[in-house]
Amino acid sequence: MRGRKYLSVLFECCNVYRRIYINREGTAYVGLCPKCGLRAHIVIDKDEGTDRRIFRVR
Ligand SMILES: [Zn+2]
Repeated sequence: MRGRKYLSVLFECCNVYRRIYINREGTAYVGLCPKCGLRAHIVIDKDEGTDRRIFRVR
């Protein structure tokens, strides 16, 4: 899918960066740690916006 939104996420469990993509509903970014499979689920905050580019997942 072209132009699909993503975030760069630091998976602290394995200390690895990965892009995770927005879900179908456009409400959150979801993805899995490539090493251990930990699930990242970052809800998009409409009030604050998503200025941050890098999120940490534990
Ligand atoms: Zn991991």
